Formats: sequence, structure tokens, C-alpha cells
Amino acid sequence: MTGGRRPTAATRVFALLGDPVSHSLSPLLQNAALAHLGLDGVYVALRCSAAHAPGLVASLACAGGGGNVTVPHKATVLAALDRTTEAVVRTGACNTFWGEEGVVCGDNTDVHGFRAAFTTGMRDPAGARVLLLGAGGAARAVLAALLADRVDRVVVYNRTPQKAAELVARTDDPRLRVADSVDGLDIDVVINATSLGLRSGDPLPIDLERLRRVGGVFDLVYRPEGTALVRTAHSRGIPAVDGTGMLVHQGAAAFARWWGREAPIDVMRHAVTQAGP
Ligand code: NAP
Repeated sequence: MTGGRRPTAATRVFALLGDPVSHSLSPLLQNAALAHLGLDGVYVALRCSAAHAPGLVASLACAGGGGNVTVPHKATVLAALDRTTEAVVRTGACNTFWGEEGVVCGDNTDVHGFRAAFTTGMRDPAGARVLLLGAGGAARAVLAALLADRVDRVVVYNRTPQKAAELVARTDDPRLRVADSVDGLDIDVVINATSLGLRSGDPLPIDLERLRRVGGVFDLVYRPEGTALVRTAHSRGIPAVDGTGMLVHQGAAAFARWWGREAPIDVMRHAVTQAGP
């Protein structure tokens, strides 16, 4: 069965491309949406190498389907795209692709996904003083959204300081700076855009005690049982949300690109929150 229907000769095929992909909840949420609307499509996860990712993007798009791209191929697949959105240009990364009459198109719906989840689940970014942990692909999407939404300032802290410096230099905005320590910072929201928390047993991405003040925590990582960072924040009385909302919103934006209609976002959210550990 595909998204609630048996495959037909017209079934559109969508795939998540990355390595690893086995932990992803995207197949669950996309197939739940397809089943709910009775659409003739299927969404699968394909673990693939960097050498094969651009070819898969072009092939799936030109065969009437599309998909998502995750770690570590979001920049690699740019080579396969004929047309890109502003979000791809600003971030240098693509997480969503599809075809339009033989033209391979790419978007980065992580920007929209972060913005929607942050605004609804945390606060209005305008005027906020943010500590951003991480300097990879997700951090780029976070920055693109925050800077467009009139954030006051963003301090970037990363395990490899050189990568934080490159991210800040590439973005070239006076509201950004690199921190070599988080000690004593007065921060409205800490955003975790590192991979820490994906695996049980990971250390926390930050010791919140080291900050002078923290008003909230937004963790891009999601796990069915919640993340240790969010639990730690809650135990200190700090408002905190994990990456489930962002996952749902970026998936809904991708769905709209592929199907030309609004995604059933409540169905997607329900599918993800019902997923067992
Ligand atoms: P990425 O490009 O591989 O970047 C990973 C980042 O994590 C880098 O800054 C890296 O630091 C840091 N990091 C990795 N291991 C670390 C460790 N042991 N200690 C400290 N820092 C470490 O990955 P990404 O695409 O940015 O994704 C980052 C996270 O965001 C992932 O967990 C991903 O699942 C999540 N994400 C969630 C959503 C959502 O919808 N909720 C969307 C996109 C991404 P170095 O530079 O030092 O290597």
C-alpha cells in the first residue's frame, strides 16, 4: 500500500535522501497526509552516498516525484538543481526538491519550518537575543529566518570555532558574532542546532547553569520520548520545545510544493506525536 492506496502506474514517488535516514519520521508524516487526502503517492527513505544523491534528485524529480534531503547531502544536491528558491540561495542548502516540466526545482523548507515552529511555540523573534549552538546546515536555516524576522542579536557557539567564524563571515550581518565561551551570557532563547541529543547517551549541548539568564530553549532535535535538553530546561522552570514542530512545518511546506495544495498539518502532527520510542 502507498499513502493509503495500492500503487498504480501513476503513483508519484517521493524519497528522503540522506545517510543515515532510518531514524526519520518524515515517511510517517508524509504517508499519513497522503492517506488522509487519498492522494496517489508514496514517500520512502533511501540511504545514499554523496556520489548518488544528485542523480537521485534529478531522476525522481524528472519522473514526476520529488523528495527531501537530509544530512549530509543538503549542499551536495545543489549541483542537480535547475531552479532554486530564495531560501536555498540564502542558506546554500536544499532540503526539498521536485520537478516542473523537466526542470529540477529546489527549496529549503527548514527556513519556513523553523520560523513557524519558533513563532508559534516559543516567541516572536523580533528583538530577541539568541544563543545559537551549532554551525552546520540547520544553523544556516535558523539564521536565515531569525535575521529576516528582526532578531536583536545572535551569538554563535560551535564545537569547531572555525566553522562558526565561517558561518558568521558568510552571513555578514552586524547582529551576528562568534562566542568562544557561553559563560555569563544573558540570553532570551538558546537554540540547539547541533546533532547532540539525537542519540541516547549524548552529552547535553550546553550546561544551562553557565548562562547568567536564559528565557527559553528551542531544540531542533526531536526524539519520540523528548530530548534531554528540553527535560533539563523544564526541570529549571525554563520554557522549552523540541524539533517536532519544526519537522511538521517543514514537511507541510514541502507537501505544498509537491502537491500544489495545503498539507493536512494536524494529521501530520498527530502521526509524529503518536510515533513510539
Ligand atoms: P550538520 O550540518 O552535520 O551540523 C552538525 C552540527 O552539530 C555542527 O555544528 C557540529 O559541530 C555539531 N556537533 C556534532 N557533533 C557534536 C558534538 N559531539 N559536540 C558538539 N557539537 C557537535 O547537521 P545539521 O543539518 O545542521 O543538523 C543539526 C541537527 O538539527 C540535527 O540533529 C538534525 O536532526 C536537526 N534538524 C532538525 C530539523 C527539524 O525539522 N526538527 C531540521 C533540520 C535539522 P562541528 O562544526 O564542530 O562539527
